[in-house]
Amino acid sequence: MEKKEVSFFQKSKRILQYAKPYWHVIFWLFVLSAVLALLSLVGPYLVKILIDDVIVGQDLQLLFTIMVIFIGIFLLKTIIQVYYNYKTEALEETVVLDVKKELFQHLEHLDLGFLYSKQLGDILVRVDEDVYGIQSFINIIIDGIVMNFLLTLFILIICLHLNWRVTLASLTFFPFYIFAQKYFGEKIKQQKKVVIEKDAALLSFIQEGITSIKAIKEFLLEKLALHRYTTKTRELIKQDLRLNLLSSYSTAIVGFITFTPLLIILWYGSFKVITGALTIGSLMALYTYIGKLFGPISNLGSINVAIQSAFVSVDRVFEFLDTKPKIQDKPNARLLRKVYGGIVLDHVSFGYDKDIVLENISFTIKPGEKIGLVGPSGAGKTTIANLACRFYDPLKGRILLDGIDVRDIQLKSLRKHIGIVSQDIILFNATIKENIKFGNIHASDEQVMEAAKLANIHDFITNLPKGYNTIVGERGVNLSGGEAQRLSIARTILKSPSIIILDEGTSALDSETEQKIQESFDYVTKGKTTIIIAHRLATLKNADKILVLKDKKIVEQGSFSSLIKKQGLFSRYYKLQFKMPIAPKIPVR
Ligand code: ADP
Repeated sequence: MEKKEVSFFQKSKRILQYAKPYWHVIFWLFVLSAVLALLSLVGPYLVKILIDDVIVGQDLQLLFTIMVIFIGIFLLKTIIQVYYNYKTEALEETVVLDVKKELFQHLEHLDLGFLYSKQLGDILVRVDEDVYGIQSFINIIIDGIVMNFLLTLFILIICLHLNWRVTLASLTFFPFYIFAQKYFGEKIKQQKKVVIEKDAALLSFIQEGITSIKAIKEFLLEKLALHRYTTKTRELIKQDLRLNLLSSYSTAIVGFITFTPLLIILWYGSFKVITGALTIGSLMALYTYIGKLFGPISNLGSINVAIQSAFVSVDRVFEFLDTKPKIQDKPNARLLRKVYGGIVLDHVSFGYDKDIVLENISFTIKPGEKIGLVGPSGAGKTTIANLACRFYDPLKGRILLDGIDVRDIQLKSLRKHIGIVSQDIILFNATIKENIKFGNIHASDEQVMEAAKLANIHDFITNLPKGYNTIVGERGVNLSGGEAQRLSIARTILKSPSIIILDEGTSALDSETEQKIQESFDYVTKGKTTIIIAHRLATLKNADKILVLKDKKIVEQGSFSSLIKKQGLFSRYYKLQFKMPIAPKIPVR
């Protein structure tokens, strides 16, 4: 993801764009902030009246009135505070939800090349944790800046009214305070960045550990993995502690600086009381108000740090949102309503990274034709299927569907017309019924069952204790390769695409399962353009054409019988699979 330097204001403006639809709520919260600020400042003034007028003036009548006002204000403030907290939280959560929606949508549109090249943990943190940086920012604006600014303003007005000389004298600490805040703010921001990076690296490591647990067990790497995990965790804790220590230093030093004005008030204020320029009540009130000023000023002073630290997360979110998907619709991309299924690869070259996987490949599939792709593992068979679905774009050359470059077709309409049947079917953590319905989410239960019957999987499903409501996927029952493939066929039957890609999968199936799959596959592919990535070469007997891939190129092509006759690579594979003797190559002298 590209790092761009964006100014403070641009960033703030971009976040506030998300809050814009809720401006009426924000306005209401500002009004409530002002009311709350005023209510929380009435107390010391009442105490001043209590000392100067009730106690010194010995007015018992006034005592009763003051007490009633005290109770009333306390109750009112509590009720408004509860409501205000709730509304602020609700606003923040709503904005975060909007951003989360956009993030998820963006994630869905990013190209596979990008997603596979990124560490999953890093993306997870951006989408699910860093997004709360936006919540922090809004909270800082409403609860931090507005509330604290109002409190500071009201306190200063009251203090200046009580005695402006004492007030101004007590504010001399201000410049030191700002300097300390700025210094520590910068340090804390840098340290927080380090902690987030270490945290993301640890998450990625755990995620990798879970996905590759089989390999860890197989190669007895548990000790090594544990050691690496502990080292990474230790590093995170070390950096976390460093952050904690920095925060403590900052709090201690800034706290010391803010202690000075209280000393000034007591000293200078007492002197004023003695000379008769200030009442005792006013001194007490000044002392309490300036004491109350620490909170808001300290909060205002640390707002820069808080914003910077929220920006660390926000930057990561925006960086992610600004990543342009390499595969996306052109502005005038075509919507295909009907597809005949003619596919042409025209001098296509492709590589996932620097290494070229396919070089200058050309072939044509007529509508309704069945072609087989054969070749050693890693030859690029699946890559051809990936290119046809436009999961990736070729580096050179073009791919045509019904004569149209796939880059000029709307992705949705392209993928709607292509179905993939595979043993590596992706199962979502949902019921079997829902998993089949992903082929067509509008299908009725009857249609799902019909598709399952045609895919020869209905009996298997009904024999499960919960039938179609059995949960499969990550936390559900595991399916064998053959069952998964039949489920995939049922899904494809519901999708009813014009082009079908069969990725046979490498795991062996028993002959009865193979027979069942073949039957249902023949049904689903009838009259449709079909690309079969074949491992069991017998599957290709009825193929119109077979392409043999090796070393980035098509090395042989033709019908099943012509390739057998040719005595080339295909016939060698065939004989190997059926354990027939291979005629030794006799060098010609
Ligand atoms: P086949 O289907 O013939 O076994 P593939 O098309 O899956 O082969 O892979 C062709 C080559 O591309 C292999 O070398 C494989 O390692 C590489 N490859 C496949 N998928 C990716 C990917 N997402 N990123 C990088 N390299 C990949």
